[in-house]
Amino acid sequence: MICVDELKKAIADRVATYLADDNPLASRSVMDIAINDALNHVLAIDINAAFDMPRQDLSAMDGFALAKNGQLDSGSTFDIIGESCAGKPFVGELLPNQAVRIFTGAVVPSGCDTVVMQENTNFDDIKATLDKSQPYAITLSQAAKLGANIRRQGEEIAQHDRLLTVGKRLNPSDISLLASMGHKTVQVLTPLTVGLIATGDELVAIGQPLTNLAQIYNSNTPTLKALLDKLPVIIKDYGITKDTLADTEHTVKTAITECDVIISSAGVSVGDYDFLTQVVENLGKINHYKVAMRPGKPFVFGEFTDNTGNADNKRTVLYFGLPGNPLSTVVGCINFVRPALWQALGAMDAPKTLRLLAKTTTAIKKNPGRREYQRGYFEQSEQGLVVTPAAAQDSHRIKQLSQANCLIVLDESNAGVKQGEQVAIELFDWVL
Ligand code: AMP
Ligand code: MG
Repeated sequence: MICVDELKKAIADRVATYLADDNPLASRSVMDIAINDALNHVLAIDINAAFDMPRQDLSAMDGFALAKNGQLDSGSTFDIIGESCAGKPFVGELLPNQAVRIFTGAVVPSGCDTVVMQENTNFDDIKATLDKSQPYAITLSQAAKLGANIRRQGEEIAQHDRLLTVGKRLNPSDISLLASMGHKTVQVLTPLTVGLIATGDELVAIGQPLTNLAQIYNSNTPTLKALLDKLPVIIKDYGITKDTLADTEHTVKTAITECDVIISSAGVSVGDYDFLTQVVENLGKINHYKVAMRPGKPFVFGEFTDNTGNADNKRTVLYFGLPGNPLSTVVGCINFVRPALWQALGAMDAPKTLRLLAKTTTAIKKNPGRREYQRGYFEQSEQGLVVTPAAAQDSHRIKQLSQANCLIVLDESNAGVKQGEQVAIELFDWVL
């Protein structure tokens, strides 16, 4: 059986060829999106600076902009002949012993070469009695440094500089950068369509009554929607499919024609009513089946080819089959599906998993063999991070999943952990 890291790599390798051959970024359709809605979308083009930043020389301080060629020694005196404030620059010529009052972010007049901060002048001593409608002078209380306290035109960004590169997943700082360059909209890659299929005769859609004790609600579809919420994908919800070969085949066939990626939950084990693996083999191919992981061993990674378009337009549809247990669904989605989706979306900087070390407050049981993702609750203590594993670790326990804030990652060879030992934890991204 393939191990977790090998499966991650196998999926990443296949998605890389999918991006190179089947669905290259260059041929992806793009759309304009308002900056206000662009968070987490994947940039479709390189963005270059339309202008210099700062656009002109600006003051970095509240103080005085000194005329060129003035005396900068302590005790030098300057006549203040005007003001430059943010949005309202000073207009006029200056003689060498003149200066203008200036504020942070205001344009440094072209006739000035140095800004002194007001604390380095006698301004604070005279300001109480100052009538700013009358001419006044200030004296340097310490020597000024030629060229100081000026943010130079283009010093941060020069016109035409590359600001953002195609494939960038837009984060709040990128939005800030784009907005400061005046972009109201930005071109992003069109979202991929992701089909969600829940299978199981026992499942009832939320909102419907449970009519017998054998029934349970389909919680996996809402869970997957929540887990994929930050991705720029369009979710197509195929609801619940009955545990028959015909129904399963019908739903999967429909999804192949309508989706770029299909994610199913349940029906991938070896039970008599688990038809998904058979359907995937009939309609496409299984690249990998089963992973040495707990929870979530019967994971399927496969693919289909959609031939329903014209012959030149065959599309690859990626397939992820998650086991039905809610915990297996969550762990499989976090470990394999989300990273693969970000990659398939063309994001060059997919979100990273934050892995830390914490001391376990109790002993942890584990047999060597599979990698385990146990649910835990980490806290910051005086001795550093500590983690308390959930009392029971069965893969159907959804309440302890909701109480956990991290997964405790126990490697394949791990044969149990003593109380107080360090373990690796991966924080749920919604905890941060
Ligand atoms: P299966 O993979 O079909 O053997 O399902 C494994 C377990 O997960 C069973 O206990 C199912 O009832 C449960 N299960 C399957 N699908 C869902 C779902 N969509 N929501 C909640 N539980 C599910
Ligand atoms: Mg089932």
